[in-house]
Parts: sequence; C-alpha cells; structure tokens
Amino acid sequence: MMDLKQLVEKTKELDATAASLIKTSAIRFSDEFRNLCEQNTCGKYGTNWMCPPAAGSYEALKAKVLKYSEGVVFQTVHKLQDSFDLEGMMEAEETHEKTFRKIYDYIQSNSGGDNVLALNAGVCKVCKQCTYPEGQVCRYPDKAVSSVEAHCIDVNALVTACNIPYINGPNTVSYVGLFLF
Ligand code: SF4
Repeated sequence: MMDLKQLVEKTKELDATAASLIKTSAIRFSDEFRNLCEQNTCGKYGTNWMCPPAAGSYEALKAKVLKYSEGVVFQTVHKLQDSFDLEGMMEAEETHEKTFRKIYDYIQSNSGGDNVLALNAGVCKVCKQCTYPEGQVCRYPDKAVSSVEAHCIDVNALVTACNIPYINGPNTVSYVGLFLF
C-alpha cells in the first residue's frame, strides 16, 4: 500500500495548503447533508452522475466509504478581494480542481494498483456539460469523481479531526478533498 505519510507531504508539494492522515473510523456522516442536497442549494442536484440522486443513497455511499481503512485529507485555501468576489471564488474553485487532479494523477501513477476512493469538493467537473440524464451514461467513468458532500461526510468534523481549520479567516474560501485507501 502507498506510504500515506509520504503522500501527505507530496500533497503539500502539489499545492495543498494543508493535509493530514485520517482513519476512516474518525469520519462522521449525517443524512442531514443528503437533505441539503435534495433542497438543491448548490443548484446541482439531479444534474450529474456523481451527485445525488444518481450517485446512490446515503446508506450505500456511507457503506462504500467504510470499506476503506484510512486516507489523506487535504485542503486548499484561497484569498478573495471581499465576500462578493464571485470571480475570485470561481478562480479558487478552478485552482482547487487543478490541485486535486495533480494529487490524483500522482496517486494513480504511484499507488501500484491500490483501490482508491477519491472524493473532491462539489460536482464532477470533468465535462463542461455532464451527460446526465440524456446521454444515459457517464462519458469518462475513469475520470469522474464524486464529492465528500455527496457522501454525506461532515467536512467541518473531518478537517477539525485533523487539526485543520474549517474556516480560514475573512475573505478566504477553502475546499477539501479526500483520498481513501
Ligand atoms: S465525467 Fe463528465 S459525464 Fe461523467 S459525471 Fe463527470 S461531468 Fe458527468
């Protein structure tokens, strides 16, 4: 299995602001997050194969996570001009996505075939327009990635358990990704 302590350091080299080991047994879940998805506050519910409802039920996704024993959580933190800086927020999301992909590429090239569950922040962004539901199949199942939120993981509790701050001060936005082995 991959050396996860080494992966934590590599993750920081690849532009994560913070990273830590996490035992899967320390992850907290709540079906309240599924209720939030269903309220469609992010506008992505029912628009993507990697989001609910297509991604699977709360119970199924929780059971999937619990099949893995440990992993690495990472966070990126981005400065904004102010709390209305929508352009800055979009740039921050893109920058986080690039960091996530660099780390995931590194893992895929160096994990020696380990079974890895990669979870990012928010909707799968591989395609400009997801094929859901018209195309009936995901265009790139090998690249598609679901989110920590879709898996009903309490992100605040996740980073707090690793001594990583959930909120990083005024005029910042933070994103979290997770790789389980
Ligand atoms: S890879 Fe493309 S088609 Fe598949 S879930 Fe992601 S955005 Fe949708």
